[in-house]
Order: sequence, then structure tokens, then C-alpha cells
Amino acid sequence: MNIGVLGAGQLGRMLGLAGRPLGASFRFFDPNKDSPVADVGELIVAAYEDAAALERFADGLDVATYEFESIPLAAVEAVAKRVPVLPSVQALRVSQDRVLEKRAFQHMGIRTAPSRDVASRGDLDRAAHEIGLPAVLKTRRLGYDGKGQVVIRDENGLAGAWEKLGGVPLILEQFLEFDRELSIIAARSRDGEMLFYPLVENQHDEGILSCSVAPADVNETKTRAAREYARRIMASFDYVGVLALEMFEAGERLIANEIAPRVHNSGHWTIEGAETSQFENHVRAITGRELGATGAIGHSVMLNVLGTAPDLARIESVPGAHVHMYGKAPAPRRKIGHITVVADDPGEARERAASVRRIMAPEAVLA
Ligand code: AMP
Repeated sequence: MNIGVLGAGQLGRMLGLAGRPLGASFRFFDPNKDSPVADVGELIVAAYEDAAALERFADGLDVATYEFESIPLAAVEAVAKRVPVLPSVQALRVSQDRVLEKRAFQHMGIRTAPSRDVASRGDLDRAAHEIGLPAVLKTRRLGYDGKGQVVIRDENGLAGAWEKLGGVPLILEQFLEFDRELSIIAARSRDGEMLFYPLVENQHDEGILSCSVAPADVNETKTRAAREYARRIMASFDYVGVLALEMFEAGERLIANEIAPRVHNSGHWTIEGAETSQFENHVRAITGRELGATGAIGHSVMLNVLGTAPDLARIESVPGAHVHMYGKAPAPRRKIGHITVVADDPGEARERAASVRRIMAPEAVLA
């Protein structure tokens, strides 16, 4: 099976690492030549607007997928004319636009934050009046890792938020007083079988995921509700592959924030912490295989390595710690690797993760 992947970051790399033992070979497409996929497949470096390069990419593939949702839709559509693209272009289209995404959730009976479209300064004032403040102003498109959004605390914040983000289509969302951020990773095969990983609790640091705890300590009712949300989303898109749904937990409510139609950072723990990793299941799904079991093996804590590499030899010496460096150049706040710590019980997993954290950022822990 020849699999094409649009985007060639660490998610592409980990898809390749999981898929090669299954006999798949990989071709990646990315405008950036400094990519971490060099040792897992062929890389075509070209702009997403380069029609000839996209043709070369699609040539001879059995199936194509994407590992990054900000890829220009036209590029994905051009590939889809030549080979099946999974998950579908429609799932990608909706996930690229927060307004379409919210409408889709509402249509499926999935709870979301109250929100309004904002195209002008007048819209912003009206939206703030209707949904109330505080609120979060976000770009409809191309926002990730907390980029392209501003929290508006009160009316004095409206002008500044507009100055910062105005000029592109926006959405204003009610600011939710949530208890925790949770996500669920799910997979659907070409035959329509759906499997769900346990829920994950996620902690962010200035908008970037820093830590995922899996399985999250969540009751059965919420687990069922999250699975039902993911089930509806996958059914409605005739989805094939791995999907991530990010949610806020507020009391007894689960409020959907956004989907990623791809393998997701909050699922990296599945490499060591689940019976089948999210990467393997994505490859299995898009190549028409049966899915592998999604149960957790023990308890995992995943820590992202941001910026510069810590003392890896010391981290490796922590029991249950697994180091994944992506081969990316260090840069401030850049995701260059992750560490997953596994243990038999949640307390031990937390303690081991605390040991890793002390090695990763001794000053921060001491401060
Ligand atoms: P997003 O880009 O939508 O994933 O948002 C990035 C982060 O901003 C989330 O992980 C939350 O911590 C926070 N956030 C996003 N939307 C809201 C909201 N409506 N209310 C409160 N916090 C939010």
C-alpha cells in the first residue's frame, strides 16, 4: 500500500513509523524542506499551490490522508480527484472553519459554547451584547495552539480585540468557566466500525498542549456522552480514520470545542499506553483494514517537549518513561518531541511524570 500524507510534521513521521511495519510505504508533501519525515518516506517539497507537484505526489498512491488541518482545501481537492482522500474533504472543510464546525455540532445535537459570526466592528458589539462578556474572539480559520484569539474581559476590551484580529472573518464565543479540558480520540474503519480510546485530560500552557493524562478520571456518564458526540460526528461525515474531539468539562456538562480530523497530540500516549496506537489505527482505517483494540494499558502521562531538548539520558532513566524526539530544530515554544510515562496506577504515573518534569524544567519547578 502506498500512502500519501499531505503535511510532513511529527504527526506524519509517527504515522510513517506506525505504518511501515504494516507493510505500507509513505510519500509526504510539505512546503518546508526541514521536515522530520526524512527517514520514514519520500518527501516532495513544493507549495500547496503547485499543481504539477501535487500530481507527482498523487501518482501511484493507493490512498492519501493529511496530518495538518490548515492545508489549503484546493490542494486536498486536487489530490482527491486522483486518489481517495481519507478522512473526507468535507470533514476537513468543516474543521477548518469554526463557524461551520459549530453549526455542524448544533445540527448533530452536540453542545457548544454560544457564539456569533463577526464580520465587522458593528457585529462585534452586537455579538458581545447578545452573548455577554467575558467572551473569546477567534479567527474563523487558521487558528491553532491558541493563536488567532483574544479574550475580551469587558467592554473596554472590544476595541483592542478588534484592532488585533479584525479584517478577517471572526467568531465570538462565550467565555466558558470550565473545570477541565478533555479530549476523545476515536477511529472509524472503511466498514463503519467505530472504536473509542479512553478520555484524556489535557493541560495547556499559553495555548499549547503541555500535558495529557490518560485515561482521565471521568465517570461513566461523561465517557458515554463523549463517545456519543464522536460517534455522531464520524457517522455524519461517513468518516474514515482517526478523529480527535476537544471538549470542556463544566460540572456535569461536556461542551464540544473543536475537532481535528486527524491523529492528535492528545493521543500520543497511545503509542505505549494503548493496545493499538492512534497512528496504527489511522493507517489501518484508511487502508481498509480492521481497527485494533483501543483499550488503555495502565496509566499514561504525556508531556510535550517545547523549545529545546532537555537532558534525555536522565529522562530515559525514569522508570516507565519513553522519549520521542522528532528531529526538529529547536525554536522557542516549538513542539520538538514528547515523553510518555506509563505506570500501573495513576498515582505512580503522576509521580513519574513529576520526576520527568523536574528534569525538563528544573528552574520552573523550583521557582
Ligand atoms: P482553541 O484554539 O479553540 O482550541 O482554544 C485554545 C484554548 O483557549 C483552549 O484550549 C482553552 O483553554 C481556551 N478557550 C478556547 N475557547 C474558550 C472558551 N469559549 N471559553 C474559555 N476558554 C476557551
